[in-house]
Amino acid sequence: MEYREICEMTALQLGQAIREKKTTSTEAVSAVLAAIEEKEPQTHAYITICREEAFAKASEVDAALAAGDEGLLASPLAGVPIAIKDNICTKDIKTSCASKILGDFAPFYDATVIEKLEKAGAVMIGKTNMDEFAMGSTTETSAYGPTLNPWDAGRVPGGSSGGSAAAVGARAAVCALGSDTGGSIRQPAAYCGVTGFKPTYGTVSRYGLIAYASSLDQIGPIAKDVKDCAALMDIISGHDEMDGTSLPQEMQPAGYLNAMNGKITGMRIGIPKEAVEKGLEPDVKKAILDMGRTLQNLGAEVEEISLPFLDYVIPTYYIIAAAEASSNLSRFDGVRYGFRAEGYEDLTEMYSKTRSQGFGEEVKKRILLGTFVLSSGYYDAYYKKALQVKAIIKQEFDKIFSRFDAILLPAAPSTAPKLGESLADSLKMYLSDIFTVSVNIAGLPGLSVPSGFDREGMPVGTQIIGPALGDVNVLNIGYAFQQATDWHKASPSACAAAAEKEVR
Ligand code: GLN
Repeated sequence: MEYREICEMTALQLGQAIREKKTTSTEAVSAVLAAIEEKEPQTHAYITICREEAFAKASEVDAALAAGDEGLLASPLAGVPIAIKDNICTKDIKTSCASKILGDFAPFYDATVIEKLEKAGAVMIGKTNMDEFAMGSTTETSAYGPTLNPWDAGRVPGGSSGGSAAAVGARAAVCALGSDTGGSIRQPAAYCGVTGFKPTYGTVSRYGLIAYASSLDQIGPIAKDVKDCAALMDIISGHDEMDGTSLPQEMQPAGYLNAMNGKITGMRIGIPKEAVEKGLEPDVKKAILDMGRTLQNLGAEVEEISLPFLDYVIPTYYIIAAAEASSNLSRFDGVRYGFRAEGYEDLTEMYSKTRSQGFGEEVKKRILLGTFVLSSGYYDAYYKKALQVKAIIKQEFDKIFSRFDAILLPAAPSTAPKLGESLADSLKMYLSDIFTVSVNIAGLPGLSVPSGFDREGMPVGTQIIGPALGDVNVLNIGYAFQQATDWHKASPSACAAAAEKEVR
């Protein structure tokens, strides 16, 4: 098969083609590597490419499938290449969090999600670029340089999982994993025209995810469509005794992909009026309202609602996230991981030089902010207050979800900003997280699906958000929407080809 043909397939289509012997996992790996070679100079989505490891795993899977391995034959994504965000630990493979301070650190164990993917026969193709320690909304704070948006190299891909989203958007990855602490899966998915899912807190193990803000972090899929996200959720979710916040198995959804039936008749969906009024770009506003109408035509009951707490979510999030980050990042001190500064007289100087040189500006800003809000005298005024507001936000969501199955929110107030714009105005960047962070604060599932284009041809994404453990419903609403629309099928290369045809 031609490599572009393989790279345009969804993960489920490719898995099926491999099982039906129309292609092999080895051919799929070659195809994705060819696409990476073609696209990387423009997008820079990867930090590490796992060429040898991927070929080794692919031939293992091909051999097992040929020998009739029942487990793999029943595994929908066996043989399918996947890209992994570089804050997820991979045994003996560099895991950098896009930070200088980790140097060439290679973990001695795999994250639980990696073990699960491995067992399902998925093939890791590489580690993707991100904002340093997942702090940012643009993938510009990476110590390895920014990732560029596959739709327009003058713009950011979003962040912090910008590498994963750009790789899938550029068709230089079939599917990917990201992590989402305050929007880092959903917002880059929206900016890059792909589908991203942040699951309910506790459904996917965080064991081996290098922590940013542990009470908010969650790993999730970034893919070409909702069905691929559901298939990945079947693999990566489930109770894990290695993660103290992992939900018991009996509480977890029974299965994701099999539950996708596209039936949403009678589902109650709310569109918050504040969200539509709040300084949205007109094309983003149009996308969410159009999506509401599409879902209504599909049988859902769509109503205007109110999210009165929207003004409080940014300060609450940035206080809690920074506080947890300041504690989580204290382990990076030059003793155990990667980088250590040179020329110090004593231990204290080694710590301070290593941390000053090893962390980037944004990370240092967050550590300082976090240390400040946790310090005596300020703890009650900031950190404790933020936790109180968090409790109120949760209660407000509970009230909404006693009447509604899901709500819609934009993924971000605008489409992808130009490179450099957000670094110049970090407050504006923080404020652009307004529609994503409350989902993490309340531990809810949130899905971003492509829902249109702006007048400059940049993709728009809209979120579907549900109550905790309403993941299957949320995905199913997204699936119904994708059955009725084609936004998720657009790719930069497909659009360029169509435009060329039109010109001719
Ligand atoms: N932009 C948010 C932040 O900088 C969210 C990042 C994330 O979800 N990892 O904290």
